[in-house]
Amino acid sequence: PAQTMEELVSLCKRRGFIFQSSEIYGGLQGFYDYGPLGVELKNNIKNAWWRANVHERDDMEGLDASIIMHRLALRHSGHEATFNDPMVDNKKTKKRYRLDHLIKDQKADVLAKVAAAVNEAPENIAAVSARLMEQPARAAEILVEAGVRDAFSGEVGEWTEPRPFNMMFKTSIGPVADEDSFGYLRPETAQGIFVNFKNVVDSTSRRLPFGIAQIGKAFRNEITPRNFVFRVREMEQMEIEFFVAPGTDEEWHEHWLEQRLKWWEDQGVPRQKIIVEDVPADDLAHYSKRTYDLMYDFPTLGHDEIEGIANRTDFDLGSHTKGQAELGLTAQVMENSDSVAKLTIPHPETNKPVVPFVIEPSAGVDRALLAVLSEAYHKETLENGNERTVLKLRPHLAPIKVAVIPLARNKPELVDLARRIKADLQRLGLGRILLEDSGNIGKAYRRHDEVGTPYCVTVDFDTVGKGEDASLTDTVTIRDRDTLAQERVAIADLAEWLTARLR
Ligand code: ATP
Repeated sequence: PAQTMEELVSLCKRRGFIFQSSEIYGGLQGFYDYGPLGVELKNNIKNAWWRANVHERDDMEGLDASIIMHRLALRHSGHEATFNDPMVDNKKTKKRYRLDHLIKDQKADVLAKVAAAVNEAPENIAAVSARLMEQPARAAEILVEAGVRDAFSGEVGEWTEPRPFNMMFKTSIGPVADEDSFGYLRPETAQGIFVNFKNVVDSTSRRLPFGIAQIGKAFRNEITPRNFVFRVREMEQMEIEFFVAPGTDEEWHEHWLEQRLKWWEDQGVPRQKIIVEDVPADDLAHYSKRTYDLMYDFPTLGHDEIEGIANRTDFDLGSHTKGQAELGLTAQVMENSDSVAKLTIPHPETNKPVVPFVIEPSAGVDRALLAVLSEAYHKETLENGNERTVLKLRPHLAPIKVAVIPLARNKPELVDLARRIKADLQRLGLGRILLEDSGNIGKAYRRHDEVGTPYCVTVDFDTVGKGEDASLTDTVTIRDRDTLAQERVAIADLAEWLTARLR
């Protein structure tokens, strides 16, 4: 696996996985563009998730809701009031920080002083930050007294009182931009699922338990975007809202934890690299009864969240439903006189209308891509002493499945045959097959090792009957990315050979 974030960033840029957004204009912080190989890898991750969670299950429906949502949807979801991160400014440098990030980045002795001042353990940054937010005036003093430093200037900071900062992006809708004409870019895909609950139930006749899955962009105006695509302002999420009868929620929560760990394993992210954090009660989001955070051991960063699996009780549908008073909700919800829909479903046993509980496995595509890349990344010394960088991606995730390489670029018979083989393989629907006619086979192998292409198929003079061994006519060489073994296979058997290994 990768040892540092640096080597991943460098590979991503060099080989066309990820670029900084609007780079030629100086870049935009917290935004990234996925390049030719990045888009393939990202699509493959999303497809793997969709296949496992929608197609291969009998209790799931898919959805693709709009990104811009009604302001009332995000008011009743609780985001207008509570989707805040604590923010502080350095009065001198005018740099702005997320409070918990700022204290987390301090030297151990400084961090210990801050934590001691609020009677919390230095490991528990979320709690330290929360205690500081409860007493903003005192918090500013604590930061100064402890000698909290500005990450940019390195100087001991002069800090403002921390204050909540709402992370939702707003945008105006329609030709008149006034107080009332705005909507929000969704900060999570989940709300699009909740507001469509009734539509999906009515159109599919689903009964409990069942889920709705969605993959899509979400936007958060992060105060300190950082660590490459780990924390960005425009991200993509893969979310499931799984609806269950109250009382069965804890069992389903365990089911989903198991399913999701298995999925990560299938993507090449092993269980030993993930710590399942049972989020302590006082760190839980207000809607959650229990949450498991899957913390992957990122290079440089250390353990940080790739997925959250939350038991959200009846909070979400309870918040968006009309007629809340008669529904016997267990969650504390804001009064809703705006919704026109009753978000109930018959209880599987009593048949009486009930607001279901929700189990939510929510994963970030960008963080998944980073974890997958990090696990796949290997530096190896070959027998001949040469070093190579190789991405040992699972074949179903590889951006390029097969590179077809004519041994010489200036020999039309080799190039034409390679082109025909490429076109035939492309029709198998395995993913991207690349015609690699750069002419230098050594370089081609190195490049394809570095971008994780599982197989290179070489068309040489033997293939076209002009080599020394006539028995090799109409055969090609297949080179295996991981073992470097080379095998001679008949062109006629190529489709079957590759399909068996790539599907
Ligand atoms: P964090 O504590 O790291 O800010 P979070 O707990 O707010 O994350 P959730 O709201 O649980 O994150 O979002 C679910 C998933 O979406 C996360 O596990 C992560 O994979 C992804 N995600 C959230 N925020 C970002 C971001 N700014 N950039 C990239 N991915 C993100």
